[in-house]
Amino acid sequence: MRSVTEHQRVIAEMIAARPAATVALAEALGLVLAGDVVAPLSLPVFDNSAMDGYAVRAEDTAGATAERPVLLPVAEDIPAGRTDELTLQPGTAHRIMTGAPLPAGATAIVPVEATDGGVRSVQIRQHSDVGKHIRRAGEDVEAGTTVLRAGEVVTPAALGLLAALGLAALPVVPRQRVLLMSTGSELVTPGTPLQSGQIYESNSVMLAAAVREAGADVLATATAGDDVAQFTAILDRYAADADLIITSGGVSAGAYEVVKDAFGPQGIQGNRGVEFVKVAMQPGMPQGAGLVAGTPIVTLPGNPVSALVSFEVFIRPALRAAMGLPNPQRPKRAAVLTEAVTSPRGKRQFRRALLDSTAGQVISYGPPASHHLRWLASANALLDIPEDVMEVPAGTELQVWDLS
Ligand code: AMP
Ligand code: MG
Repeated sequence: MRSVTEHQRVIAEMIAARPAATVALAEALGLVLAGDVVAPLSLPVFDNSAMDGYAVRAEDTAGATAERPVLLPVAEDIPAGRTDELTLQPGTAHRIMTGAPLPAGATAIVPVEATDGGVRSVQIRQHSDVGKHIRRAGEDVEAGTTVLRAGEVVTPAALGLLAALGLAALPVVPRQRVLLMSTGSELVTPGTPLQSGQIYESNSVMLAAAVREAGADVLATATAGDDVAQFTAILDRYAADADLIITSGGVSAGAYEVVKDAFGPQGIQGNRGVEFVKVAMQPGMPQGAGLVAGTPIVTLPGNPVSALVSFEVFIRPALRAAMGLPNPQRPKRAAVLTEAVTSPRGKRQFRRALLDSTAGQVISYGPPASHHLRWLASANALLDIPEDVMEVPAGTELQVWDLS
């Protein structure tokens, strides 16, 4: 049997970063910058007022108090967005709004609160110092400065900065495009009636959500019955546009294992380089990985818990790493087990668990079998029990994957 670590390595090596691409700002949130961003202009772009008030020459306000205000004629009115260039004559004021360009010659802004708010002339009740309430061009960003570096994740604030600099697009590492294929002749799409022996198909929506939550894109989801021709038709339709194909089901040891049949030596696909292996883990022992016409494929077992735990263990870290995203691995925490559990010999067990990070305690949650999806739905952690451990007494400190 292959170890979990070895299978993780095989899959991580298959999934490669897409070439950098230029995307519109609105498409870039959460992606990783593929190049440095150099400011094409300064911020603020021009000297401007930080307050609603009056642009003055500071010396014209000398000695002004509430009792003995200075009276200045108001020569101009400058709302934000005025584009003509103005000059302030000595002994006059310009009414000015926040963000409006400072007229040449002005050396201070008197806030409206320190005046009578006059329109033709203004009573100034407070002396103002040179530079007061003025935002200088370039005091935030000087043109030519590197403001963001390759490898940084694009945040809302980074998008705001790029837009403020007048940039409409930026270079990023694109999202991986994932094709999800569920297999099984028993599967019926939720929302339609079930016949005897049928079950609702749940892996597509679950894995699609997990793919998106990992930061990647879902190219398509499709379900094939246990029929190689049907399976192959879906593959042929989408595979060329995918960066990764994930199948679920059809890889166990029974008959009607459509994924194995399609890729095995006897399959109509011939051997396209997909290797089926047993991985020493529970859940999720039957696994496969390889290339289909150059596109990586990971074949997960069909049981929903096995499928999602396998995604967590093998695919999520590899996808995130290929997109350059930080923390490709879930955070691992040491926590004390509050109730004894058992684990199979020779298999690394990932048990669903409830982690109390504050208390540093964890409890196993639900049975270990791979069809108990309900427990996984409310779990916030996975216990990671090493292969050689079979009995874990209460009080043991374990490594826990924090899914929260
Ligand atoms: P398989 O790996 O195809 O042998 O499937 C193992 C178990 O998982 C069977 O009980 C299947 O019915 C179930 N299963 C497989 N695929 C899905 C799916 N997409 N949604 C729900 N259950 C599934
Ligand atoms: Mg099946």
